[in-house]
Amino acid sequence: MAGEGFWRRIAGHRPDPRRPPKRWVWLPYDQQQPSHPLLDPTVHGPREETAVVFVETAAKPARRPYHAHKLVLLLASQRHQALALAQAGHPVVVHFSEHWYDRALTEVRERWRFDRLDASSPAEAEVRLPVASLPWVHLQPNPFFITDRAFWRRVFPKPGPRLMETFYRAARRHTGLLMDGGKPVGGVWNLDHENRKPWRGEPPVPPRPRFEPDAITREVMDLVRTRYRGSFGAVDGFEWPVTAAEAQRAADHFVDHLLPHFGPFEDALHADEPALFHSLLSASIHLGHLDPRTLCQRAEAAYHEGRAPLSSVEGFVRQLLGWREFMRQVYEEHRDLYADTNALQATLPLPDWYWGRPSGMNCLDTTVRQVIERGHSHHITRLMVLSNIANLLGVDPHGLNEWFWFAYVDAYDWVVTPNVVGMATFADGGLFVTKPYVASGKYIARMGPSLCNGCRFDPKQAAGERACPLNPLYWDFIDRHAERLATVRRMQLPLKALRALAPEVLDSHRREAATWKAIAAKARYRSA
Ligand code: FAD
Ligand code: SF4
Repeated sequence: MAGEGFWRRIAGHRPDPRRPPKRWVWLPYDQQQPSHPLLDPTVHGPREETAVVFVETAAKPARRPYHAHKLVLLLASQRHQALALAQAGHPVVVHFSEHWYDRALTEVRERWRFDRLDASSPAEAEVRLPVASLPWVHLQPNPFFITDRAFWRRVFPKPGPRLMETFYRAARRHTGLLMDGGKPVGGVWNLDHENRKPWRGEPPVPPRPRFEPDAITREVMDLVRTRYRGSFGAVDGFEWPVTAAEAQRAADHFVDHLLPHFGPFEDALHADEPALFHSLLSASIHLGHLDPRTLCQRAEAAYHEGRAPLSSVEGFVRQLLGWREFMRQVYEEHRDLYADTNALQATLPLPDWYWGRPSGMNCLDTTVRQVIERGHSHHITRLMVLSNIANLLGVDPHGLNEWFWFAYVDAYDWVVTPNVVGMATFADGGLFVTKPYVASGKYIARMGPSLCNGCRFDPKQAAGERACPLNPLYWDFIDRHAERLATVRRMQLPLKALRALAPEVLDSHRREAATWKAIAAKARYRSA
């Protein structure tokens, strides 16, 4: 049976009913820190006295067809952690259930009869909320983010727009990261304008460390292959870090070899180098294998030691201390809004192009291929290719959100939803972004020329057989939403350009766009 070796090994570490543990702690999948405060023996006594509970549930993959790499990543990292804690002396229970986390934990309690279970709050609301309703579960605040709710309330004491820049500057001051007394290091808060270079092969991207699956991971791969066949993507090719030590190696490589070029090429797209100089650390950070504050400090040290320019280091700190922390809090504050908001009233079902059927648009097809292969693509492909094309077509933002949620290894409700429903699709009406992120083929041609060079369409053409579909769709989008965008300051230029179009040109864009929208509607995804 798949997974047999792990179960045999962990069975020897179950609690001894003759000497029941004094404490019970549940470690959710997003808390695989090498040292968890709830397991600190200097605070809580000998390890033998604290039993640790892990849950493996079939209910999670039943909810969404998560990428096979994500399932392997979650299960393999939990299993490695369970064995490591068992070897350190903790009694360990790994409970397999068909049910959601609240019922699964209830099953554990019925079997082991404890009065109280301690845990730090899982970041994912869909896990946290049902578990929080169990009176014998004591959830403490999640300590694995740099900022907390009290900090958020201090930054935004009143209702109203939430600007990431306001939050980020306050977080820099609060943590002292990249600060020189009360001023930002280098005298400016934001070096984004230096970070917009396309990449044309230089400097070369250093090869990344590889993480060959060990016996425990290979067992999980077999399990996912046989049991969760409906997953997006295949198990093959899995090589994400599954332990804190492996994640640390990936982080070392990033700081030493990629960070120096991270900033300038942060927005670049390339057909053959899917990750360029991005860290690929998001999944490891979300699982608890890497500490975000330490990563920021390491990046800052690289700047002070002259190993990375400020544009890269500030860009990286902005993502982690800024965007990651901001997104978590904005989601917590506006969860109800994010459940169904659809400010641009976009309703088209997501086309099957996002499941791998070729659309002919090289930017889209290449990115989708990357996601199918690894459950990842970098920020600009998510924003300016996948979401941009969906926006231009008028795709339902919640359908798109579901797709991102199951297709990416780093997707959890608190981070994927504000990114997709908020930042990428403007479906929240601009709660924290100052304009919808939409662009024509010109943007892709500038930031990712290798994509357009390999495409059957021409980014310079807007009509005719070789016209890049993004061009007429872009003008159609601006035209369709002109009234709504009239009050958006950063959309005034495109609106002015729209008004300058000759009527017959605008008509042609509308016709071409209608053709593409009809093709996309026919390509609606139907599950097998
Ligand atoms: P890097 O480019 O190396 O950035 C460093 C770190 O900064 C990341 O590891 C991540 O932890 C953090 N970060 C950067 N941008 C963001 C952001 N906008 N929100 C939160 N954290 C950020 N990120 C996720 O972690 N999970 C998601 O499900 C997710 N969905 C997204 C969907 C869309 C439509 C968009 C536009 C962005 C999404 N992001 C998501 C944000 C971002 O694309 C990823 O965090 C990033 O690409 C992860 O790759 P990396 O580790 O190489 O990041
Ligand atoms: Fe994408 Fe248009 Fe460029 Fe083709 S020409 S890759 S469709 S932007």
